[in-house]
Amino acid sequence: MAADTSAYKIIDHTYDVVVVGAGGSGLRATMGAAEAGLRTANISKVFPTRSHTVAAQGGIAASLGNNTPDHWSWHMYDTVKGSDWLGDQDAIEYLVREAPQAVYELEHAGVPFSRNEDGTIYQRPFGGHMQNMGEGPPVQRTCAAADRTGHAMLHALYQQSLKYDADFFIEYFAIDLIMKDGKCVGVIAMCMDDGTIHRFRSHSVVLATGGYGRCYYTATSAHTCTGDGGGMVLRAGLPLQDMEFVQFHPTGIYGAGVLITEGARGEGGYLTNSEGERFMERYAPSAKDLASRDVVSRSMALEMREGRGVGPEKDHIYLHLDHIDPKVLAERLPGITESGKIFAGVDLTRQPLPVTPTVHYNMGGIPCNYHGEVVTVGADGNPETVIPGLFAVGEAACVSVHGANRLGSNSLIDLVVFGRATGHRLKEIIKPGTSHDELPADSADMALGRLDHFRHANGSSPTAEIRSEMQKTMQKHCAVFRDSALLAEGVEMMKKTNKRMEDVRVTDRSLIWNSDLIETLELDNLMAQASVTINSAENRKESRGAHAHEDFPERDDANWMKHTAVWFEGWGGKGGDVKIDYRPVHEYTLTDDIQYIEPKKRVY
Ligand SMILES: Cc1cc2nc3c(=O)[nH]c(=O)nc-3n(C[C@H](O)[C@H](O)[C@H](O)COP(=O)(O)OP(=O)(O)OC[C@H]3O[C@@H](n4cnc5c(N)ncnc54)[C@H](O)[C@@H]3O)c2cc1C
Repeated sequence: MAADTSAYKIIDHTYDVVVVGAGGSGLRATMGAAEAGLRTANISKVFPTRSHTVAAQGGIAASLGNNTPDHWSWHMYDTVKGSDWLGDQDAIEYLVREAPQAVYELEHAGVPFSRNEDGTIYQRPFGGHMQNMGEGPPVQRTCAAADRTGHAMLHALYQQSLKYDADFFIEYFAIDLIMKDGKCVGVIAMCMDDGTIHRFRSHSVVLATGGYGRCYYTATSAHTCTGDGGGMVLRAGLPLQDMEFVQFHPTGIYGAGVLITEGARGEGGYLTNSEGERFMERYAPSAKDLASRDVVSRSMALEMREGRGVGPEKDHIYLHLDHIDPKVLAERLPGITESGKIFAGVDLTRQPLPVTPTVHYNMGGIPCNYHGEVVTVGADGNPETVIPGLFAVGEAACVSVHGANRLGSNSLIDLVVFGRATGHRLKEIIKPGTSHDELPADSADMALGRLDHFRHANGSSPTAEIRSEMQKTMQKHCAVFRDSALLAEGVEMMKKTNKRMEDVRVTDRSLIWNSDLIETLELDNLMAQASVTINSAENRKESRGAHAHEDFPERDDANWMKHTAVWFEGWGGKGGDVKIDYRPVHEYTLTDDIQYIEPKKRVY
């Protein structure tokens, strides 16, 4: 990609910490770093309160025990079981023990949680969350602000972060990391409204860029969820982890993909097939409609495959809320009542809603420990090798607390707990005022080379065409059920689609709000992640959590209880090859307060 990049105007900045991303996790990390007296910048490609966190509906999990008895160890058990034993138990213990405090912190920050009669925070049941170490009955653990929890959280966090002395660079697109001798020393970004290039030199960079759901054709995630952080990490020659585990949410509105929160089933909603049968009673006799998401999505897919889907194509399922008191719906689920009307033309108080499993969340991401530090398999084989100066939080990260399947309402809590933990770590390792390393002479070359290459890309394949080919391949070949033939074919198709990146066409050459160019940079990030996802899925010869492999229907702990670490080597349309290695699952807890939870067969 040799290009003349001298024409680009570069503006230099120096900070202690640069956070990329202003969703729940990025804002919490920004607050933590700024509060610790570190000079902190936050870069976001969208206005902070438009980050995907704003769309979170159902709630945030913490064992407050306000509506039913609860204990952090029960939350831990459910999260480990939900992860199908791929989650790291030290990190999970950290998450569930810090969770209640993190929720109170949000309450004090101004999140208007729904309340019980006695004034305590209202908590609703959510899939896979149980009392008594998984024995049941269901626990009410999910704190909610009606069905607009993420909205309330994101606004409160943004307001709070303004009170600290952090600088916000809004509508700036981060292009690439600056690496020096294996260390991250900054990031290059473009201001989207005037095309200026900004070089941020910093002691640490925190990637809080969210998920990459837009690899798929239909997803509940925003169009901005393009995994830019994961793309930057792969380009820096570092691996991503557990990418084969993609969560399908059982209830996306049929045709539209818009999410109906699991809180709908938490409040008593249930699913039926074309025969009017509540089929979840057959698949999960005890948890029924509140089994974990992978289990419910698979059950729905099986019903449809066996001809019991509803509609002329038998390709969706009904979600019933019509038996619930309309007053309760208006109070606890006002947002989805509205979505039902707008996106399906259905009055939820009287009719069932057509739904289908829809891509929703990426369990995989940038491997890191519970301090937020990015880790890799080092040259000496050490799988816990820390990359100095690089952190990851939120959906972009893989701590791993969600393992092979995330429980509903465990992401919002992950954002704030690990956003805060990252702030603590930054405070420990960076002394305010420490001088910065010299930047390498070529610090902006990779980012500008890519930018310039795509800006002048003059091939015959429009970005949107390549993107939709990639999305359709993922949707068909890497969905709820996978098998060897389907995956192998998908891998080959993805290589061909990746090859088309050599032939991409961008028509707008300007640098002022060039959405064609930005979408192409995003597609480059998506393409790499689609490739590593489908290759990792093809490689894993077992079924675990969200990875349901029909030729290997059982979980295989002897051979596969390990994290996939995957590198991408096919940039610029060249080959699309990947390299795969593994990291061990942490089979130990953080403290002696709880014993390692031994693997068991997962039934709900
Ligand atoms: C519809 C929906 C409902 C959900 N409901 C729930 C729920 O009820 N409970 C729950 O626990 N979880 C829920 N989830 C999951 C959860 O909301 C997300 O996992 C979480 O909000 C992700 O937060 P984040 O901080 O990682 O990133 P996001 O909120 O996705 O923010 C990403 C940030 O990164 C920035 N960014 C990305 N790329 C760049 C770049 N190149 N340059 C500059 N900035 C960049 C963006 O501007 C944005 O600020 C839901 C998800 C969806 C899609």
